[in-house]
Amino acid sequence: MRPALSLRTLLALGMFAPGLTLAVLANWSHRPAVLVAAVAGGWAAGWIVGLRELRAVRDATRAVERLGDGELSVSLPEIGSAEVRALARAINHVGATASRREDQLNAALDDAATQRDLFSSIINASSDGLLLYDTDRLLVAANVRCGELLGFSVQELLHTPSEVLRANLEERTAAPAIYQDQLERHFQKADQPYQDTLVIEEPRRRVLRRYSCPVINHRGVQGRVFTYTDVTAESDLDQMKSEFVSTASHELRTPLTSVHAALQLALTGSGDRLADEDRELLEISLANTERLVRLVNDLLDLSKLEAGRMPFDVSTMRVGALLDEAARGVHVLATTREARIVTNLGDGAESMVADHDQILRVLTNLLSNALKYSPTGSLVHLSARDLGDAVEVAVEDEGPGIPPEQVDRLFRPFSRLGMQERQTSGGTGLGLAISRAIIEQHGGRIWWERRPPRGSRFVFVVPQPDARRSAVTAVGDRAVA
Ligand code: ADP
Repeated sequence: MRPALSLRTLLALGMFAPGLTLAVLANWSHRPAVLVAAVAGGWAAGWIVGLRELRAVRDATRAVERLGDGELSVSLPEIGSAEVRALARAINHVGATASRREDQLNAALDDAATQRDLFSSIINASSDGLLLYDTDRLLVAANVRCGELLGFSVQELLHTPSEVLRANLEERTAAPAIYQDQLERHFQKADQPYQDTLVIEEPRRRVLRRYSCPVINHRGVQGRVFTYTDVTAESDLDQMKSEFVSTASHELRTPLTSVHAALQLALTGSGDRLADEDRELLEISLANTERLVRLVNDLLDLSKLEAGRMPFDVSTMRVGALLDEAARGVHVLATTREARIVTNLGDGAESMVADHDQILRVLTNLLSNALKYSPTGSLVHLSARDLGDAVEVAVEDEGPGIPPEQVDRLFRPFSRLGMQERQTSGGTGLGLAISRAIIEQHGGRIWWERRPPRGSRFVFVVPQPDARRSAVTAVGDRAVA
C-alpha cells in the first residue's frame, strides 16, 4: 500500500521552510523581487538537499533488498542527514555481521564435512562390520566390511528399507524362525550391550559374532551401534576340536568301562583270596578308573553341549521340588562334611520352564562344590527368586571364595584352582564349564560373586518363558553360540 504522503512530497514540504524564512525576511525589506527570489532560492536549495536524502534512502532500500537476496557484501556511503547516516551505518553493520556469520557457518560446514569424511574413513578401515542405528531403528551409517559380511553394498544397506534387508538376511540365516527374535533382543537392551552369534548360509557360510551397545551422550541414548566379527575360522576350529574330543572320548569310554567292570569283578568275586596289599591296589585302580569314566563322560557331554547336540527336554517344573531334589542328591556328601543345606524359595518363584535334568545337574554341581570346598560343619544356602521375566537361583557357601585373579577362568574347562583341592576333591574340573554351557543354552547367564564376609555365591538366571524357549531352539539349531 502506498503511504498517504510520499517521501518526495514530505521533502518538498520540508524544503518550503527555508524558503518561507527567506520570504519573511524579504517581505520585511518591502521588495517583491527579493521576495520571489528568496522563495525560489529557498525552494531550490531545499530541493537539492532533499534529492540527496532521497537517493541515500533509495540506496539503503536497495541494499536491504540485496541483503534479503543473500548478497551480503553491502557497503553504503555514510552521507546525508544524521538519520540517513545512522540508517546506512545500521545496514552496513547488518551486512558485515551476516557476512561474518556466513563465513563461520561455512567453516562449521567444512569442519562437519571433514569430520564426516574422517568418520567414514575410520569405520571403513575397520576389519569388523559396523552398523549405526538411530533411536527410531533407522540405519544411519554402515561400513564397507559390514556390506561384505552381510552380502550387500553400503549403498544397498543405507538405501534399502530395513524390513526388506531383514527379510533378505532372515532367508539366508541358519535359523530364520528366530532371526527377528534375536535382533529384537539387541534393541530391547536399550542401555546395555548385548552379544549373540549369527550364522549366514548364503552366498557362503559365515559365522558372525554380533555385538551391539548403545550410543550415549549427555542427552541420553542416541542410537545403537552393531559390530559384526567374522568368527567362521574360530568356529570351524572349535567344531573340529569338539569333534576330536568327542571321538577320543567315545573311543576311550568302551575300554574304560570294561576295565572298570573287570576291576569290580576282581574285587567282589575274589572273596578272601586277595592279599590285603593286592586288594588295596585294586581298590585304588577302581577309584581311578571311576574318575576316568566320569572325566570321559563329562568331556563327551561338554563337547555335545558346545556343539549344540545335547537334546533338551523343556517342561514346566516346580522350583521348590527341584531345590529339594538337588539337596537330597548331595545328602550323603553333606553328611560326610557335617554340613547343613538351607533352602529358601522367594515369592513368585513357584515354577520354571527349563530342562529339568540339566538344571538339576547344574544345581548338584554347585551344591557339591559348595560342600567340598567349605570347612566341615558349614551352612550352605540354596535359594530361588522370581525376576519377572526370569528365575534366579543362588548357591552360597562359607568356603574360601575365589581369588580375584582367578575369577576369569573359573568357568573354563579344567580350571581347577589350587593344588590342594585338586588332590582332595576328586572332581574332573569340568563341572562349572558344563554348568555354564547348560545355562547359556537356556539363554541364561551364570556367574560368581563374593559372599561377605567370606565365601562364594554362585548365581544363575534362566529367562522365562518365550525368550528362553527360542534360545534353546537356537542352540539346538547351532544358530547361537
Ligand atoms: P571340580 O569341582 O570338579 O574341580 P568345577 O568346574 O566344578 O570342577 O570347579 C572348578 C574349580 O573351581 C574347582 O576345582 C575349585 O578350585 C573352584 N571352585 C568351584 N566351586 C567352588 C566353591 N564353592 N568354593 C571355592 N572354590 C570353588
